[in-house]
Amino acid sequence: MTRLNISLSDCLPTIPKTGMPVTIITGFLGSGKTTLLNHILENKQGLKVAILINEFGDINIDSQLLVSSKENMLELSNGCICCTINESLVETVYQVLEREDRIDYLIIETTGLADPFPIILTFLGTELKTLTQLDSIVTVVDSETFTPKYFDSNIALRQIKYGDIIILNKIDRVDEKKIKELENFIREIKAGVRIVRSHYGQVPLALLLGVGLTQEDIYISQIREFQRDRKSSGYHIENDGFVAVSFESDRPFELQKLENFIVEQMPHNVFRAKGILWFSDREHRHIFQLSGNRYEIEADEWQTKPKNQLVLIGRNLDTEFIHKQLTNCLTSHSQNIEFVLPDIPF
Ligand SMILES: [Zn+2]
Repeated sequence: MTRLNISLSDCLPTIPKTGMPVTIITGFLGSGKTTLLNHILENKQGLKVAILINEFGDINIDSQLLVSSKENMLELSNGCICCTINESLVETVYQVLEREDRIDYLIIETTGLADPFPIILTFLGTELKTLTQLDSIVTVVDSETFTPKYFDSNIALRQIKYGDIIILNKIDRVDEKKIKELENFIREIKAGVRIVRSHYGQVPLALLLGVGLTQEDIYISQIREFQRDRKSSGYHIENDGFVAVSFESDRPFELQKLENFIVEQMPHNVFRAKGILWFSDREHRHIFQLSGNRYEIEADEWQTKPKNQLVLIGRNLDTEFIHKQLTNCLTSHSQNIEFVLPDIPF
């Protein structure tokens, strides 16, 4: 059997002169957007990719978990690119376009609370239309936690409605019956949409990049409306009542105490939490991910001087209570650690 030797750049249409291709990765809190993005970055072969990470909280945790060089990574934090910091999105895309070294592809990861619609219109309803090529909206769905009612958030449904490709992620955690139900539900929202099953975001890149699935013409009629009232307020964030609580400390946590906080005291209205944790009796950093009622803590090499960074996202969170609880988990004294920056090959 002759094995076809196809490289990724063979799959990609030659970059149209009309503009830099852009893929938008969206999907609800904890669905696996950053894991998918890491998979793309690890398999992008020769493609020069710039990535733009939008984080809801004021600490950008995701960007610290990505296998990407700093110079190809742009961060927008403390707001949402679909509304509150929409103009920063345009400015940041211009930064990428104006770079001397040519970028082949731009991938944007939205917050889990973003509405893809205004972002699509930002690319189609501004000057970016001639400078970029919106390739597809990729919506990641957590097969385990997603049910029509679960999020009680219109945003999760709009992310599917405006998705060109729906990645049904974490299928290893659910049975075939649940997957079928989800696929039928998604097709009710958007008939004919491309659905790809995955776990850990392991999707062939040829299904994700250079697919040319965003049909610009269906949005044309809505652009004028968008341009007229572009000053859209962050209505969806207020309406949904989501807030982000950030916590940072230069003192390490006591592992026992923090685990007790996570298991016993974590407020029920916390939907999502993520962090880079420093424990007093542990050498490595620990990546903390909580989504719904499932959490993971994984050890990993420090990339920075040890410190604690944590972001909790949920409805009507009591910031003071959370800060107090987390401060109680810290060791009583600061700890000086000799730290040498690891040699990171890029
Ligand atoms: Zn928004």
